[in-house]
Amino acid sequence: MANLSVITPIEYLKGVGPQKADVLKKELQIFTIGDLLSHYPFRYIDRTQFHKIRQLHPDMIGAQILGRLISIQEIGEKRARRLVGQFRDDTGGIELVWFQSITWLKKSLKVGSAYIIYGKPSEFNGQISITHPEMELFHPQEKKIGNLTMQPVYSSTEKLKKFNLDTRGIQRLQQVALETIFNTLQEPLPPYLLEKHQLMDYAKAMLSIHFPQNTPDLNAAVRRLKFEELFFIQLRLLRNKQLNTQKYKGHRFDKVGDKFNTFFNERLPFPLTNAQKRVVKEIRQDTNTGAQMNRLVQGDVGSGKTVVALMSMLIAIDNGYQACMMAPTEILAQQHFAGIRALLGDELCTVKLLTGSTPIRERRLIHQQLEEGTLDILIGTHALIEDKVKFKNIGFVVIDEQHRFGVEQRAKLWRKNIVPPHMLVMTATPIPRTLAMTMYGDLDISVIDELPAGRKPIKTVHFYENQRLRVFGFMREEIAKGRQIYVVYPLIKESEKMDLLYLEAGLENLQREFPLPQYKISIVHGKMPVKDKDFEMQRFVKGETQIMVATTVIEVGVNVPNASVMIIENAERFGLSQLHQLRGRVGRGAEQSFCILLTTHKLSKEGKTRLETMVRTSDGFEIAEVDLQLRGPGDISGTQQSGVLEMKIANLASDQAILMEARQSVIEIFKEDPSLSSKKNTLLAHYLNQRSPGISWDKIS
Ligand code: ADP
Ligand code: MG
Repeated sequence: MANLSVITPIEYLKGVGPQKADVLKKELQIFTIGDLLSHYPFRYIDRTQFHKIRQLHPDMIGAQILGRLISIQEIGEKRARRLVGQFRDDTGGIELVWFQSITWLKKSLKVGSAYIIYGKPSEFNGQISITHPEMELFHPQEKKIGNLTMQPVYSSTEKLKKFNLDTRGIQRLQQVALETIFNTLQEPLPPYLLEKHQLMDYAKAMLSIHFPQNTPDLNAAVRRLKFEELFFIQLRLLRNKQLNTQKYKGHRFDKVGDKFNTFFNERLPFPLTNAQKRVVKEIRQDTNTGAQMNRLVQGDVGSGKTVVALMSMLIAIDNGYQACMMAPTEILAQQHFAGIRALLGDELCTVKLLTGSTPIRERRLIHQQLEEGTLDILIGTHALIEDKVKFKNIGFVVIDEQHRFGVEQRAKLWRKNIVPPHMLVMTATPIPRTLAMTMYGDLDISVIDELPAGRKPIKTVHFYENQRLRVFGFMREEIAKGRQIYVVYPLIKESEKMDLLYLEAGLENLQREFPLPQYKISIVHGKMPVKDKDFEMQRFVKGETQIMVATTVIEVGVNVPNASVMIIENAERFGLSQLHQLRGRVGRGAEQSFCILLTTHKLSKEGKTRLETMVRTSDGFEIAEVDLQLRGPGDISGTQQSGVLEMKIANLASDQAILMEARQSVIEIFKEDPSLSSKKNTLLAHYLNQRSPGISWDKIS
């Protein structure tokens, strides 16, 4: 068939046909020949390296062995059902074990044949075994494709394997694909960039990623393809950012007036940290350009984001606009309201609170005042985005803990004025730089990387459960000093019933150790009616109870300066960023604060790393970096809804250097040629034109 290219549907490739095409689409989302070529190997086996069975050791990450499958036998029942194969070479024997696809394996494994197997050796009762090895029949006479020493391994599925599309089968397709369309492959990057960044050309990289000749060749191909992927993501993000500034006119705040100055000079009870000053300045500059601002403020818990938000809102009011601030929970909205009222006093401007539980009459009054323009600042929850809430002239929107809100919710605030308001989103979940650049590459980012002076660092310790009596003793001492204590339990959907029982048992235990009337305990968890939750919360906030037993509902934002001890039960079950958030609930007052992480003795390696990290540092950015390394980008909180993180080859955790290089490259290109109209950038302009233009901020972040 003539004229095949990357956009040709996969069924037209020789050796594919409708049936295989169908599974390729369903299982791997491969629709075109181009999709097939960008189904890269996820690993390579060095085919020159073989191990003898005698050399196998449980510490090895993986080993390739040539041997013979002597027998297979199914043993055990139900969940213990497994297939066990005896595998031998001339130095000894091991067991191969499978727990899945047993029926299929029994049919397809050839007992008595020679296999090349690959897998991780482990040891059980002194016997070495490999679970779910990769199996490949050994054909000594078969010519290896391209005579490879680095054998690619492709991800495949049981379904694909039934259509002969195991790693070998996919490799054969890659060969056909490359033979068929190699000459049509087009370089998407301009030549000057290849030269500048020393990149292998595209066609060569495609060949080498699938059929590497040697390690340097493979590394060069991988680097090239990663660069390209990250480069085009940054190109899109930075182009969007550029478009947003051009497209959306913004309210120009050109004066700093009475309210800001009065607040700053007369009411602010503490000096701002340098980081706070810097961010306020950045916002002031941004809002005075005539373009609409989209800024993300990252700052650890307690770094003082609220006051920055407040001062920004005052700038808006000084320029004749209204402002609002949205928080993800009722408790948090109430705290912001109380805090901001306390900071502002009664004279400077009018502030109101709107949440789901605001009584109808008050609500109507608020609606009316907003439309008349007699209400300056509105603080609240999701209630703010209802259509009924109309502003006379909203100029500035603050969203706290932005990752708790959906994209659509943010977009609604954006549309509350004809000219969209400036948007300031704040997060206390520090995101590693590389992630932020990719998730929020089209936003401006400010970082508050400094805590107010005089804060005592929180002392964090790790105890095992059997040291709980010591912990109780410590709690008594702290309560005797007048402090309050949080005790937090995990509550996870998948194990909710067990978790609730565990929490109840823990609560009973505490009630015995800390009996009435001397001690009082609040309890708050997500399963309680909102009213009860608020009631219990309020008792703790007012200091009527000394201990608050809670699930992670207290994670976000709650501020009780007198609480100085955070005890986290089953700490090994929490993610790092969650632990960090929880710890941030204490250390807000003048007293020395403590965080006690309680765990069982059974800790995974990753669990240990998390606990060690918590004990070692309280720097949110450092913690986020460890979290990224441990879990990969997809699991970091706040990243789930972000499609930009789905990458084919690059990895934000390990490819930071390439990302920085790619981003810097894009920045320079736009600086030199903002409209990409020069001849050398034609390819880039073409790439962007193919995609839907002007994805707006609310759709992408
Ligand atoms: P977060 O960044 O976690 O939202 P907050 O804005 O709630 O932090 O601030 C935490 C506490 O620190 C508040 O009680 C606030 O009044 C106080 N605070 C903020 N900035 C300063 C500062 N520059 N100096 C002293 N205390 C400050
Ligand atoms: Mg806050």
